[in-house]
Amino acid sequence: MSADCIFCKIVSGAIPAKKIYEDDDVIAFNDIKPMAKIHFMIVPKLHVESLKDCDVTHQALLGKMLLLVPKLAQEQGLAGFKTLINTGREGGQEVFHLHIHVFGGGLPSANT
Ligand code: 5GP
Ligand code: ZN
Repeated sequence: MSADCIFCKIVSGAIPAKKIYEDDDVIAFNDIKPMAKIHFMIVPKLHVESLKDCDVTHQALLGKMLLLVPKLAQEQGLAGFKTLINTGREGGQEVFHLHIHVFGGGLPSANT
């Protein structure tokens, strides 16, 4: 838990999010500014800043997150999808708590 981290606040329930999945290690919720009709993020409950801050101790967690991608995508009705992990400021990362973006279903409608 990191005090100033927005995703830690979503994990703790201090900030609401449209959760689509939760277990002891991971949550998944819809992105507040969707870039596709379906756009959710898979987020570890553990505060890890980015993929480059992971090591072998995170191996099982990373594997679990990756295997959740097709499972949750299928539950969201997606036959195919894109995944993205922005890493570091130069990699386009804005929230410094590791997350996998999952996109599918085409562009969002104008009012979402
Ligand atoms: P990044 O650029 O770090 O890979 O992506 C961060 C993502 O988090 C962005 O797509 C942004 O829309 C999303 N985001 C930022 N703040 C919130 C929030 O409070 N709630 C939700 N659901 N998504 C957020
Ligand atoms: Zn965090």
